[in-house]
Amino acid sequence: MLRATELAHTLIRQILTPGGWAIDATVGNGHDTLFLAEQVGAGGRIFGFDIQEKALASAENRLEGLTQITLHHAGHERMTEILPADAKGRIAAIMFNLGYLPGNDHLITTRSETTIAALDQALSFLAIKGLITLVLYTGHPGGAEEAAEVLAFTKDWPAHFAASRFTRLNSAASAPELLAIERLR
Ligand code: SAH
Repeated sequence: MLRATELAHTLIRQILTPGGWAIDATVGNGHDTLFLAEQVGAGGRIFGFDIQEKALASAENRLEGLTQITLHHAGHERMTEILPADAKGRIAAIMFNLGYLPGNDHLITTRSETTIAALDQALSFLAIKGLITLVLYTGHPGGAEEAAEVLAFTKDWPAHFAASRFTRLNSAASAPELLAIERLR
């Protein structure tokens, strides 16, 4: 079955190469962070954000020994303040996996206001030919609203950012969907 999370990896594999820089905007248990680190190798750089200590502790376990990764205990809406200025225009891939941390408090979720603030900032970090992926969940309270607001936010962007979505059309209406944003020039 095609899954939004796996499709995000498939797309990112095509553009993220050894030595590249990337951001995991929602580290969670660190699965995407590890994936990004594997793509860029020891010579790349990965920046990660999460607001939950618990998530970062779990991720750190998984990511032990990978020196190309810097994790920040901070909201992704603070990326401009936190990331080095030379990261602007240099990030090949930025991943968001929204919703709650699996196996933990379902009430601690990403929220549209901060997600949109982070996405707005993410555009200024993205390299030409770079890609932002967002996995959107609608099954939890507030999820559908967040997904709708994020999708609406992309509508008026200039044409050099191409926003596309992959969504389930039948059964499992609450299956996660993927939003992919490319910077064309
Ligand atoms: N729902 C996905 C996993 C999402 S994990 C799945 O089921 O596979 C989402 C992570 O985003 C959580 O660890 C949560 O703590 C984190 N998060 C919530 N708000 C955030 C913010 N403003 N900045 C960064 N991370 C945030």
